[in-house]
Amino acid sequence: MTGPIQFIDLTTQQQRIREEVDGRIRAVLDHGRYIMGPEVVELEERLAEIAGVSDVISCASGTDALVLGLLALDLQPGQAVIMPGFTFVATAEAVAILGGVPVFADIDPDTYLIDPQSVVAAIETARSDGLTVAGIIAVDLFGQPADYVALSSVAEMHGIWLFADAAQSFGGSNNGTAVGALAAISATSFFPAKPLGCYGDGGAIFLIEPSLAPSLRSLRVHGQGRDKYDNVRIGINGRLDTVQAAILLAKLTIFDEELQLRAEVASRYVDGLRDHVKVPFVAAQAVSAWAQFTIEIPNRTEVVLALTKRGIPTAVYYSTPLHQQTAYRHFPVANGQLKHSDRAATRVLSLPMHPYLSTADQDMIIRAVQEAVSRP
Ligand SMILES: *Cc1c(COP(=O)(O)O)cnc(C)c1O
Repeated sequence: MTGPIQFIDLTTQQQRIREEVDGRIRAVLDHGRYIMGPEVVELEERLAEIAGVSDVISCASGTDALVLGLLALDLQPGQAVIMPGFTFVATAEAVAILGGVPVFADIDPDTYLIDPQSVVAAIETARSDGLTVAGIIAVDLFGQPADYVALSSVAEMHGIWLFADAAQSFGGSNNGTAVGALAAISATSFFPAKPLGCYGDGGAIFLIEPSLAPSLRSLRVHGQGRDKYDNVRIGINGRLDTVQAAILLAKLTIFDEELQLRAEVASRYVDGLRDHVKVPFVAAQAVSAWAQFTIEIPNRTEVVLALTKRGIPTAVYYSTPLHQQTAYRHFPVANGQLKHSDRAATRVLSLPMHPYLSTADQDMIIRAVQEAVSRP
């Protein structure tokens, strides 16, 4: 199939599973249980099985998954939460909207994942500012899981919790452990452009043991107790629509194959580009879900222009780190500056990445990048 190169191709995917999707949506229209219908339960059970966890609580978005998780962890106003400065805004927003204080740590310059040593520095910065540190949110940026082994020992040493923002990494793993089971609590997103996306907003929380499950299920429905009119805690309306659960069940039928195809696309990019630009580094024991394929280049503006001229879409995740954003720059930063986050923000460029990128299109992209970066 030829046509313009897409950054993410949801059309080809839909053509493959259209019948399954139509059938699943029709079933919802037939039974009419649009809120908390049987597909929601079926999806939660499937996801728990895939991740090898005790409980999955679906919810209305990845952002709600973070907010619900923080409510269940009992984050108090004024408490600090350590997180990377180089991430999507929702990570910090979830903390700040509850009155918590995001404290930004730096990233590893090769993986773009939160650096456990910088986390230690951020804890010190927060404490010297007089803050109580409640926990750490690690972010599996671009699809690769963070270093949960190192992070959990830091968390344990300081008596704080560790929460995984796995919005970009569902389908990935580390040392054979699936994303969802790498931290006591993980949040993911089913926003359409994520590796597993629905046709709207959606998200889920993963628990490796069930103790927080009852409060999360209650928080998701206004803090419900015994019944609808018994409210035992302050919650939100954070449910996943039955229709979105149905769509995700259809998409799961090809998800493993899509992850494999993404990995093949990534490996072809690495082969074609590693001698020309900085390509993604994935740790030997890690499997990325390849939400993004992100290169680093010094002359980003020119490269974007050259690629755009040839009809190749690109994206920059993220051009402004959170600690430089208007709404977040007053929050504390580990050691006062985040050198690697600042540098990455000026150099990263994400290339088209999806399971259906043809080798011909990919080779064209690789050649275009090679030429654009070699120009003085
Ligand atoms: C997408 C994303 C979120 C938020 O997910 P939504 O479903 O869009 O609310 C949170 N954190 C990260 C790192 C993300 O990439």
